[in-house]
Amino acid sequence: MKDLLIIGAGPAGLSAADVAAREGLDYLVIEKGTIANTIRQYPVGRTMFSTPNELEMREGALHPVREKPTREELLSHYIHFVLDHDLHINTGEEVTDIELPEPDLFIVHTKSVTFIGQEAHATYRARRILFAIGAMEHPRRLNIPGEDLPKVYHRFVEPYPYVRREALVVGGGNSAAEAALFLSEEGARTTMAIWRSDWENRDPKAGAMKHWVRTPLEREIDEGRLRVILYQQIDEIREREVILTTETGEQLTIPNDVVFVLVGSDADLTLLRKLGVKTEPGRALFSEVPTYDPETFETNVPGIYVAGHFTNARHIKAAIEVPRKVVPLIAQSLRVSVAR
Ligand SMILES: Cc1cc2nc3c(=O)[nH]c(=O)nc-3n(C[C@H](O)[C@H](O)[C@H](O)COP(=O)(O)OP(=O)(O)OC[C@H]3O[C@@H](n4cnc5c(N)ncnc54)[C@H](O)[C@@H]3O)c2cc1C
Repeated sequence: MKDLLIIGAGPAGLSAADVAAREGLDYLVIEKGTIANTIRQYPVGRTMFSTPNELEMREGALHPVREKPTREELLSHYIHFVLDHDLHINTGEEVTDIELPEPDLFIVHTKSVTFIGQEAHATYRARRILFAIGAMEHPRRLNIPGEDLPKVYHRFVEPYPYVRREALVVGGGNSAAEAALFLSEEGARTTMAIWRSDWENRDPKAGAMKHWVRTPLEREIDEGRLRVILYQQIDEIREREVILTTETGEQLTIPNDVVFVLVGSDADLTLLRKLGVKTEPGRALFSEVPTYDPETFETNVPGIYVAGHFTNARHIKAAIEVPRKVVPLIAQSLRVSVAR
């Protein structure tokens, strides 16, 4: 029986594994994708917003070429951290169900698919569970006709296939702004559809576009390569065009080869809810978070803890810091229950 089973090998799960190892716990991380899977899905070559001290697993361990690391530098840092410290992580394995037949006993069911496509199932027993599942599971959709066409993406990885193509980016946050910028800079004929409230938002705490994204974006607009449409709604995506309504109520039909819908994403709280964990509206817009003690990050179900992007401590800095506080508390609670 494991002392602690950690679900997810993003920054939160890796930090938790590191502390669990140092606390001498018998732990295991189960990750359905790869190490730092969310970061692997960032746009190719993307520069992080955060500085190395907010992202690194050990003080002074991350040495980017420039002031802030790229996706590749950060990914490599996390992977080498796992290798150097021999952290116990099963990748390519998804937690599909968890049972709680009695206090202090979780039965965790998983599924994995081998490289040759064979499905395997496993069961683990654990005394504590830490969910570090991130908030990227369900990209938000517009729910409009044509959204299932193969040219519509809900994640942006690279601009290179779209040179001289008609690209539309829908969204008002940093991910949408960055995608529009990368596309425009690499020769896609780019249109960005954004709500006026997002375009005019200058409050960094309310998710405003970072100034180092906005400045080059405005240059692309001024130089005539990028078009911004302040829109009300996207009405329909067709094979060669998109129909949208502007904020003044005018309906426009624009030529189109590819659409990126980047309007946020949501965590999958199904497993937590099934175990009886309560949820509530989160601090980030439209988000739902598990209800948890802000000191211990334990939920209303004893033995179930949460950390990272799907809580109110969303950024990587907090995703790393929270387990440093919480896992020692878990270790302590295990020692107490053994002594009883
Ligand atoms: C494009 C983009 C840019 C960003 N830039 C920054 C930035 O510059 N600075 C910053 O601080 N933050 C940034 N963020 C946010 C940052 O990515 C998150 O804060 C960070 O990833 C949180 O780490 P986490 O460990 O909580 O979650 P994640 O990194 O999302 O890790 C969760 C992991 O859980 C796994 N998982 C989920 N469900 C299961 C399951 N059932 N079984 C097994 N595994 C499961 C997932 O595969 C995933 O690997 C950015 C996000 C995006 C999308």
